[in-house]
Amino acid sequence: MTDYSIKTIIVGDSSVGKSNILTKFVSDEFNSNSCPTIGVDYKSAVVNYGQKTFKLLIWDTAGQERFNAIVKTFYKDTQVVILVFDITNHVSFDNIEFWINQIKSEKVDEPIFILVGNKLDIEKKRVISKEEAIKKTTDLKLHGYFECSAKNNICIEEIFLGATKLYSDMKNITDTDEKNLPKRKKYLSFNLKKEKPKFFSCYPFNIF
Ligand code: GDP
Ligand code: MG
Repeated sequence: MTDYSIKTIIVGDSSVGKSNILTKFVSDEFNSNSCPTIGVDYKSAVVNYGQKTFKLLIWDTAGQERFNAIVKTFYKDTQVVILVFDITNHVSFDNIEFWINQIKSEKVDEPIFILVGNKLDIEKKRVISKEEAIKKTTDLKLHGYFECSAKNNICIEEIFLGATKLYSDMKNITDTDEKNLPKRKKYLSFNLKKEKPKFFSCYPFNIF
């Protein structure tokens, strides 16, 4: 039994790692030869926060232009938008505004926007600095910025737990107690070797 469901969508250019971020979070899988997503794909996960249970209904979208018409129909009723770019690909970062506008053009009712820079494992090839990403987060009034690696499982879980916390806190669903962070209902063993979250909270939002 879940108390709330949170409709979440993952958007961004092709090949930034959207599908791998989702499969890493849901089933601890990484695929180095993943096929482009056709239209949309769906997975879910249950998160406990305080006394409440949240079901994240997560839609993974295709970044390719030709699927835009199908993908847009899934934007409706979205509560959380995960905007993904690749820290080694400047164009994917420049296109973040395009993805935000796509969602806003569907008149989605003020979702939570979280910016995510993926492929932190190849930081040597980084072309977008942490500071630039934080500046965009602040300028566009997004709710926060995470850097992650689906490949090395850095900060993947924090994105979705953070989204749950933001949603719940903004809706006053769960009492805000700093010691009481959201938890996955089912902990997988890989969650035990955690690194410090690479989350950069932006005023006034503070997740961790
Ligand atoms: P999508 O099109 O945004 O869904 O991207 P995919 O998840 O299909 O990934 C596209 C390519 O990037 C694949 O070859 C993945 O193996 C690779 N990839 C995804 N995440 C990472 C990551 O964190 N690090 C590295 N080095 N490669 C990644
Ligand atoms: Mg995909």
